[in-house]
Formats: sequence, C-alpha cells, structure tokens
Amino acid sequence: MTPGDWARRVTRPGPPVGRAARGTGSLLVDNIGELVTNVADGDGPLGLRRDAALLVEDGQVVWTGPARDAPAADRRIDAEGGAVLPGFVDSHAHLVFAGDRAAEFAARMAGQPYTGGGIRTTVGATRAATDDELRATVRRLRGEAMRQGTTTLEIKSGYGLTVADEARSLRIAAEVSEDTTFLGAHVVPTEYADRPDDYVGLVCGPMLAAAAPYARWIDVFCERGAFDVDHARAILACGQAVGLGARVHANQLGPGPGVRLGVELGAASVDHCTHLTDADVDALASTSVDWTSGAVTTTVATLLPGAEFSTRSPYPDARRLLDAGVTVALATDCNPGSSYTSSMPFCVALAVREMRMTPAEAVWAATAGGARALRRDDVGVLRPGARADLMILDAPSHLHLAYRPGVPLIRRVLHHGVPQ
Ligand SMILES: [Zn+2]
Repeated sequence: MTPGDWARRVTRPGPPVGRAARGTGSLLVDNIGELVTNVADGDGPLGLRRDAALLVEDGQVVWTGPARDAPAADRRIDAEGGAVLPGFVDSHAHLVFAGDRAAEFAARMAGQPYTGGGIRTTVGATRAATDDELRATVRRLRGEAMRQGTTTLEIKSGYGLTVADEARSLRIAAEVSEDTTFLGAHVVPTEYADRPDDYVGLVCGPMLAAAAPYARWIDVFCERGAFDVDHARAILACGQAVGLGARVHANQLGPGPGVRLGVELGAASVDHCTHLTDADVDALASTSVDWTSGAVTTTVATLLPGAEFSTRSPYPDARRLLDAGVTVALATDCNPGSSYTSSMPFCVALAVREMRMTPAEAVWAATAGGARALRRDDVGVLRPGARADLMILDAPSHLHLAYRPGVPLIRRVLHHGVPQ
C-alpha cells in the first residue's frame, strides 16, 4: 500500500485544520540561512540547504532552491538569515480532558511513584465537563503547541470511557485535527473494575461504533494495570476491522508484550518503548523498510521523553533503537498527568541531552519521524507538493533547538501556507 492509498483508505473526519491560502496568490519565504527539507537530495539526513528560498501557493510548497534563483511572488516573508524547518508533527497527545493534576505532580516530585492510576481522576473531571469546556481546553493547547512550531497534532480520546463521552471527545478533537485516535482502552474505568471482559466488549461494540466516524486511529494502553495482551489484541483488531489504523501505548512502565503486539498487527507506531528486550528491538527493526518503496509496513518507535521527565523515570534507549535501524519519532504525550507539556522543542532538547540523539536525529524524529508515525507523506517535509507547514527560527540553525533549551526561538509559523 502506498502512502496515498493509505490516505484514501482511512477516515478523514471533519474539515482540515486551518485553511489553505487559496486565492491569496504566491508567498515567497526568502533569505533562509538554513532550510531543513528532510529530502534526500539535500545535505545529510535533514536535507539541509543554505541561503535558500521557498515558494508557497494554495497552501502547498511549490518550489525550494537557492535564494538567488527565487521566482517572483505576490508576497514575501524575510527569514532574516534564520533557519526554516518543517512544522513539528506531534504524533501523540491527549488533549481532550478537564481539570489538572498539579498536586499529583508535586507528590511525585516529593517521592511518590507513578502508576498510571491518576488517569481515573481525569476521567471523573472530563465526564463532568461541558462540551464547551472540553473544546476550550483542546483549542487552548492546540494554540500553545502551534506557537511552539507544531503544525500537525494527533489527538486521542481516552478520558471519557463511556460511549457518549468517547464519541464527544473525538468529535471535539476532529474539529481541529485530521489525526484523531480512539483510546477507549486507556484504563478500565472504576465501574468495570471487577469485570474487564465486559468493558472490552463495550469498547469493541457500541463504543467503537460511536467513535469510529470521528477517528482515524485506534490505540490501547497495553500495560500491567491497564489492558493485557489478549484484550489489547482484540481491541486493536476490532478497530482495524472497521478501517482504523492501529497504534499502541507499549512498554512504558515495564517490559511487556505491547511492542511485539504492535508489530504483529502492523501498527503504525508503538509509543513509549521505555523498557525493551532484544526481541522487541529486533521486531521493530524487521519492519523498517524503505518508505520510498511504497510498502508501508514500518512500525515506528515513538519516544515520549516528556513522560520520563515528568515522572522522573529512566529515559528510553534511543541509541539502541537507532543503531538497530528502527524508525524513531519524538512526541509530547501532552496530558494532564504524566507529561503536561505541548512543547516539541523541549522534547527535542531532552532527546539530545538525555537520550543521546544527535540534534539532527532529534529534529528529524520530531518532524519526518512523526509523519511516518501517522503514515503521512504530506507533512514533516518541505518539498514541492508538501503542505506549507513550517517554522522560522530566531536562530541560524536547527542545532539551536537543543543548544538553547527553553528559549522561545520560533519566530513565525506557517500552517497550510497561512502565517499564524
Ligand atoms: Zn499517551
């Protein structure tokens, strides 16, 4: 299956986020000191070009090349010698929720371990919230992410855990994202605590039926204390049967079967990957085929260092995965319990400092890697035909994202070619 086939096959709910700059003429981004294209014909894995320009029409990139060859355009943005990168692709975020868990964070920083049990606290608050309250939170966090360079943002449900609350969570998410994920199998809610089989039946039956019209993906938290491998397999298979793509929360809190289950089912991504055996790494590496061949069987390992930071846990071994040839993505895991950050630059800095990724590897994983994890080829890359989603840095190079952590370096963001 080619990426295009995939895009046609999956559900695409709601209108796209933002609007293409149709009818507004051409826009030239000029005087780019360093252009990160993620295209193979540039320099290195990021496809770097110096002294470059980029032309946008109808929300798409239509040309990139040396600034001296730049075509005329109706409008111009001067990058002032700064770096221009594809917008970040945050392929893992939980934005539909109410309340916060700052007190839980404080307790954890005072020494209490993270168990995942706090998810139920957020479930209670989310069920009690109105649609408008949930919508306001989603839009606030999406705006926050956009200001930090994120132009593609996957959004999961998973704090409703009733048929109606999961459906409305996804309906609200689909208002602002093309990549929405049904995570009814986040935890077993309290009212089903002693009958998890019944809850899995609900997830695979009426809850999936209500959620699927608003979802592109299905996800499951396959972990001790959440869903065991048999339940996880059943849930993902039900979703795939109605056309949803599979993703898995796997191997976060300890070793387990989640990663190998994801590979077995052809999941687009297995996320967290903090505790991996050699067999897990081998399984992931076996899926890493060349994207350009058109055979989309890669299962991406999506690393979420914000979660390890916020739970004071050991970071995943990114080098082991990269050295084995596994495709790695970085994402925020933005959620009110274990990683309340929407900042991809923060995750890039953590990946470089704490996980020994090179700055180039981390930037690639946060852009092109995220696109792979969502099986998309129209984002995470700046080449003719790609969506004109990009950021202009107040810095001459992508290196500064990790070199100057915590500094607001993103001067401007274009989404569908529209300045934000
Ligand atoms: Zn998550």
